[in-house]
Amino acid sequence: MKNQEIFDKVVELAAKYKEDAVKFTQKLVQTPSISGEEGDLTELLMAEMKKVGYDECFRDAQGNIIGLVKGDEEGPTIMYNSHMDHVAPGDPNNWEGYDPYGGQIDICEIDNQDKTGKDKTECIHGRGASDVKAGHAFQIYGGAVIAELKKMGYKFKGNYMYTGVVQEEPAEMVGMSYMIDKTFKEKGLTYDAMVSSEATSLKLYLGHRGRVEFYATVYGRTSHGSAPWLGINSIYKAIPLITKLKDELYPSLPTDKELGQASLSLNIIECSPGALSIVPDQCMLSIDRRTIPGESAESARQQIQDIIDELAKKDPEFKADVVVKSKVEKSYTGMEIEATKDMDPWKTPKDHPFTKACAEALEAVGQEVKYGYWDFGTDGSKTAGIDRKPTIGYSAMQEQYAHTPYDKVRTDFIEKAIAGSAAIFIKSGEAGPDTFKTLEW
Ligand SMILES: [Zn+2]
Repeated sequence: MKNQEIFDKVVELAAKYKEDAVKFTQKLVQTPSISGEEGDLTELLMAEMKKVGYDECFRDAQGNIIGLVKGDEEGPTIMYNSHMDHVAPGDPNNWEGYDPYGGQIDICEIDNQDKTGKDKTECIHGRGASDVKAGHAFQIYGGAVIAELKKMGYKFKGNYMYTGVVQEEPAEMVGMSYMIDKTFKEKGLTYDAMVSSEATSLKLYLGHRGRVEFYATVYGRTSHGSAPWLGINSIYKAIPLITKLKDELYPSLPTDKELGQASLSLNIIECSPGALSIVPDQCMLSIDRRTIPGESAESARQQIQDIIDELAKKDPEFKADVVVKSKVEKSYTGMEIEATKDMDPWKTPKDHPFTKACAEALEAVGQEVKYGYWDFGTDGSKTAGIDRKPTIGYSAMQEQYAHTPYDKVRTDFIEKAIAGSAAIFIKSGEAGPDTFKTLEW
């Protein structure tokens, strides 16, 4: 077992690398990388990995990037993951004088870790600072710490793998799924656990609800708007369906004790042909459904289908269908993938051996261990939700700033996250094979 000495070295090296990681975060914020346009950012990320001593780094056909710091012995591969895209900055007038792509650094008031008060400390401002440009910096530098320790003569088991994926924000996991299912297979790579840099305020985050987008269409028949009795108005036909979704299905949805209740929300209604003089023959409902472990897109779809079938039995004129939405996403390298709007729910138990190894790692570098769950979705829906590999969020960033014009990151947290990331690799490499047991629910 590694003694405390190595973790003290980790803390020292994180302090040494802080300034470089902060400057690097600024550069990343200054390099726009909206979903589908991450090319310029990848150049910076690849160059940084080479600079800090990664053994290998490469780009795949879709444009994801992968870097490895290799241990000397067989052991687990811990995948550190950050998405390379970010959402649009919105109205620049809301940015309190900061340039969304300025990467400006100053001393400012920012929430403390538990949002119980404010600290006055150094922050980097700009779009993506909290979601998740600083994540690339502390995860890449976590690998730099391992590379430096190797030079000092320390030996490690397994591999520290940093990954930057395209197109996370549209929420279809296209980058993560392609990288794992295609690129890893081609290159003979595997991973045993994933650490996500999505905002956690230096806590360990253990899961989130899933998300499925449904598109239900209720059918009717057109007639002249002046003679509605000659047609079948699809909007009126949709009313009993909407009522049942709201008053029967939603209240009956299950609850998870950590993640909360599953939910359903009808958020868009459209109709066709959509002219004032025509009775509409199609009414389309876009439904946002949040799922909990144990539910799937298909089981959630079937619940709506059952209501449709029930209504059709009572009313021979009632016709409707429901599908999971999908969308074609094009990467900056030109790869097009049709992705369904379906992200699985997931949960890594607090008493899972990987969670325990992460907790011990943070203690070893002097960080208090706290737990949480995300409100929003992440690419953990692939690694934990589909692949069932232990997955954890650990991040310098604070979720309340993500996607807002107050987007910023504390530099003191970046330093801590460099140390924590390296420590998680060291501790989980030392732990037994049971550490990576499959997630079940
Ligand atoms: Zn994010």
